Amino acid sequence: MRLGFHVSIAGGLDRCIQRARIRRCTTLQMFTGAPVQWARTEISDADGAAFAERLAALNIRPHFVHAKYLLNVSSPDPALRLKSVEDLAIELEMARRLRATGVVLHLGSVGAEGTIAEGIERVAEAVNTVCERVPEGPSLILENSAGQGNIVGARFTDLRRIIDATDFPERIRICVDTAHAFGAGYPLHTEAGLQATVSEMAGTFGFDRLALLHVNDSKVPFESGRDRHWHIGRGEIGREGMARIVNHPRLTHLPFIMETPGTESDDITNMRRIRRIIRRENRPPLPPLPNDLR
Ligand SMILES: [Zn+2]
Ligand SMILES: [Zn+2]
Repeated sequence: MRLGFHVSIAGGLDRCIQRARIRRCTTLQMFTGAPVQWARTEISDADGAAFAERLAALNIRPHFVHAKYLLNVSSPDPALRLKSVEDLAIELEMARRLRATGVVLHLGSVGAEGTIAEGIERVAEAVNTVCERVPEGPSLILENSAGQGNIVGARFTDLRRIIDATDFPERIRICVDTAHAFGAGYPLHTEAGLQATVSEMAGTFGFDRLALLHVNDSKVPFESGRDRHWHIGRGEIGREGMARIVNHPRLTHLPFIMETPGTESDDITNMRRIRRIIRRENRPPLPPLPNDLR
């Protein structure tokens, strides 16, 4: 098991690493620029390589890139779709330079009038385009949604259909976000519900494809169809529910990334909370807080 956060890259790659160290991360997820702006500064191959070397030296691995929130590869608007696919291709190239495992992608909304079937087709097309553009690069990691605003990927079967519809199934991996799954109606807060959810993962996209878990509690109720991340054990999934998830024998080998809200000190508290609910035999060693950060 590896534990980490989505950490900000504001101020540059060195600051990103510093943030990960302060939070005692053993894995991390990052944006490669501002998530709500199209403009971006490219990361050079040399800077990306140096970043990866530094992370490896600190035993922070694997690391993941998360695509911008602006992207909507399922949009009914062809202009936005095109722009999203263009940016996703650049993201994949940035992830390659950073030696990241993959790019975590929200599958986008088909809008009020659209159907999920249309969305599945559009995501598959986007995957084909960017994989042709950046061959042999990092994986594209499709993230499940809460279903809010007709965002594609609320059902694991939808993720399976996308895999089957692309020409590059070997490039696709999956990220399950616990808060999104809970919002979408997967009852992973109960013992039987978690078992059923895990079985459904195995039976749809398959465990080998699961690259990481986004471990978030939920501020909004079960099956709300909404997506509001909350602090570990303090939300509607709750401490007991979160404890069962992070100790589930089919999940403990995965990197766990928290995307909980708040400040640095909230993150430090969430790291303490998650460590407390993870059984000792599964818990990774706590990286020392380096002298310069003490
Ligand atoms: Zn996400
Ligand atoms: Zn997530």
